[in-house]
Amino acid sequence: MSKFWSDFVQELKPYVPGEQPKDGEYIKLNTNESPFDPSPVVIDAIRQEVEENLRLYPDPESDRLREVIGRYYDIPADFVFPGNGSDEVLAHLFHALFKHKGKKILFPDITYSFYRVYAKLYDLDFEAVALNSQFEIDINDYINASSEEVCGIIFPNPNAPTGIAVSLEQIEQLLQAQPDIVVAIDEAYVDFGADSAVSLLEKYDNLIVLQTLSKSRSLAGLRVGFAMAQPHLLQALVRVKNSFNSYPLDRLAQVGAIAAFEDDAYFEQTRQEIITSREFVSQELAGLGFVVLPSKTNFVFVSHPQIDAAVLSAQLRQHLVLVRHFDQSRISQYLRITIGTRKQCEVLIKTLSEILTSTN
Ligand code: PMP
Repeated sequence: MSKFWSDFVQELKPYVPGEQPKDGEYIKLNTNESPFDPSPVVIDAIRQEVEENLRLYPDPESDRLREVIGRYYDIPADFVFPGNGSDEVLAHLFHALFKHKGKKILFPDITYSFYRVYAKLYDLDFEAVALNSQFEIDINDYINASSEEVCGIIFPNPNAPTGIAVSLEQIEQLLQAQPDIVVAIDEAYVDFGADSAVSLLEKYDNLIVLQTLSKSRSLAGLRVGFAMAQPHLLQALVRVKNSFNSYPLDRLAQVGAIAAFEDDAYFEQTRQEIITSREFVSQELAGLGFVVLPSKTNFVFVSHPQIDAAVLSAQLRQHLVLVRHFDQSRISQYLRITIGTRKQCEVLIKTLSEILTSTN
């Protein structure tokens, strides 16, 4: 006999993360991690913390980390709200600020799939707004939304998995047009070439910007992300956080994240290398006949007119190269490929070229 909760449990559709293989030596280009180790400064700081302080509870407010991020972005520390990866911060945002009786939130129809998962989890009304024919976000779709009907707008900039960015001018036009809607810009990939909206935070009290240390700072395993907004808006997240998890960041995460912001030279060097390799990969793939969307991220989103993307992804896997294929109608012929080290990128290109030759 089915219990009353069984339908409810079936309805809860979790986010499906990219594969983390437990067997074999794969070239892992499927989850947008950095191919580089974290800065040695981060490793030293974490090691020292392990040796000296692990028996102590962490600072529940992450005060030092918030100060360091505030200094880095030239904003007050109380504009910063850290969490266990930006996924956790997003959960607090959806829970705290996007629930408004009779109003919906807007996000692009092709975007980070967690938004839809959270909207459903928190029972929010939402509308997924189609990207244009070039796979771009048309900012006018959001500028023209009615604040009578819409309480929140969220999109990544650059968008994922398309990799395409909107300009800072467009974001400012949106903020000017929509003072009564919470506008959240998810900048998970911003360090690879887009303009951050952080510079607009003092001016717009409805703006919230999210970032992560998982990509450009090589710390996906540490789980640190953060939101930035004026304190009156962040208060909503603080209240939700305090109801769930009053020690959100552990000691190692706080210390490691602080050290990451202190080693700017390493950050600059590794992100530049990724940008350079992205341009290399984009050119080479275009040479092999792929359609390559213009990426401002650490991945490329590509499609080949002659070969099915799911088949290609499976063939790459057989050659020990993992990429991401989304079984979603409009993008089912695309692959998202994370930029690896130069060596990994060269193996990718060589493998693709062999597969294409053998299928012709
Ligand atoms: N936003 C976007 C657009 C992402 O692609 C990701 C990574 N999958 C995240 C947020 C979450 O990153 P994290 O939780 O590792 O900070």
